[in-house]
Amino acid sequence: MKNEMPKLPYPQNGLEPVISAETIEYHYGKHLQTYVTNLANLTKGSADESKDVEEIVRTAPDGGIFNNAGQVLNHTLYFLQFTAPKADNAPTGKLKELIIRDFGSVEEMKTQFENAAVTLFGSGWAWLSLNKDGKLQITKESNAGNPLRQGNKPLLCFDVWEHAYYIDYRNRRAEHVKKLWDIIDWNVIEQRL
Ligand code: MN
Repeated sequence: MKNEMPKLPYPQNGLEPVISAETIEYHYGKHLQTYVTNLANLTKGSADESKDVEEIVRTAPDGGIFNNAGQVLNHTLYFLQFTAPKADNAPTGKLKELIIRDFGSVEEMKTQFENAAVTLFGSGWAWLSLNKDGKLQITKESNAGNPLRQGNKPLLCFDVWEHAYYIDYRNRRAEHVKKLWDIIDWNVIEQRL
């Protein structure tokens, strides 16, 4: 992935009422844009300038370049995994099989994922990823963390930085997290396997 703004596959109000147009305006339009701009400025004229964002996330030392590259990658995966809200939204196919194999049921995976998102202290991300042994796992990453850093394949992420939900949900992180299941595009998640 190059360091650039992803094109959203839905209109700015297309995720309402789960995520408002105003949150997209700020979270996508300002926060993500700032990370893209910062990364471009920090890598300008260096060897990092031509690297994929994933490579920077895998290899950069802790610090400003890693933080901004992590946030570009995390937010790109985040915004591209959503679609218009629908009832009975659920994974299918190979992804559903793997979830049942590794968690027992889709409901159990969602419960564990919500728990990770709600109990993450401070700012960060909850992740579903495929680990090096081919097993699905749920992890919490603080700040700009991404499972790629440990050699795992990122599939699904919930942003629990307050900027992700404060306009719409104020301090009610748990309520926000629960509503996000309605807008996950499970086909996109399955394609990331
Ligand atoms: Mn964010």
